[in-house]
Amino acid sequence: MSQTLDKVPGAPGSLPGKTAIGRLAGVIKAYPMGNRQYVALREVDLTLYAGEFTAIVGPSGSGKSTILNMVTGIDRPTKGQVFMTGLPLHAMNENELARWRGANVGIVFQFFQLLPTLTALENVMLPMDFLNTYGGKRQERALGLLERVGLKGRGHHLPSELSGGEQQRVAIARAIANDPPILIADEPTGNLDTATGEHIMGLLKELSVQGKLVVFVTHDPHLAEQAQRIIRVQDGLIVADEYQQSINAN
Ligand code: ADP
Repeated sequence: MSQTLDKVPGAPGSLPGKTAIGRLAGVIKAYPMGNRQYVALREVDLTLYAGEFTAIVGPSGSGKSTILNMVTGIDRPTKGQVFMTGLPLHAMNENELARWRGANVGIVFQFFQLLPTLTALENVMLPMDFLNTYGGKRQERALGLLERVGLKGRGHHLPSELSGGEQQRVAIARAIANDPPILIADEPTGNLDTATGEHIMGLLKELSVQGKLVVFVTHDPHLAEQAQRIIRVQDGLIVADEYQQSINAN
């Protein structure tokens, strides 16, 4: 089932001038389970916009990570279409998806997933090495990114020498190394104390204000409240999709 933008709840009329950066249309995702199948997404329609700080919430097992996997091209739909940055991810092969992801998506994980034998600086340089971007300016750029996340002068430390919050800052710097338009965070503060988590949320929000689509998944209603848009998922369906009043009023 296809949809037009004006049928999307809360969009685009309530926030004029928005740019759609992605669209899931009639997405069904089924996993084989013995001789049956488990349907993780049961026809999801969703449009995502540049510059929006978007939360996906819902009970464990409801399909949140599966939606992220569709948006990032980590997995493909069983049925339906996924368009991101104007490209049909559902029709691309693994190589094309990997290249697209490297240039367009930054991912921040709950457990940071930094390479333990590389310094913070080297971790941040890695995506640029991978895509061969920024040439001789890689180190300078990585230092600038570390400064931007509040880690000036900490680049030579190994992840084990940094606190959880600092490691997540490095992970954010790494995620934006190639200046991707899409930033995805899966429980980004799930392993951090409340105050540190607030700082990390602040950084992610700032990146959305600068124009990136930032989508994060959380179990924590208090964190979700900080998002501009809250998408609620239950049993493989989007059951609510709302813009926060305070932001909408502007
Ligand atoms: P959430 O992120 O909301 O906790 P998920 O998107 O990870 O939920 O999973 C949705 C459902 O799909 C869950 O019931 C999960 O067990 C199932 N699922 C996810 N990945 C697979 C897989 N690779 N194989 C089989 N079932 C899966």
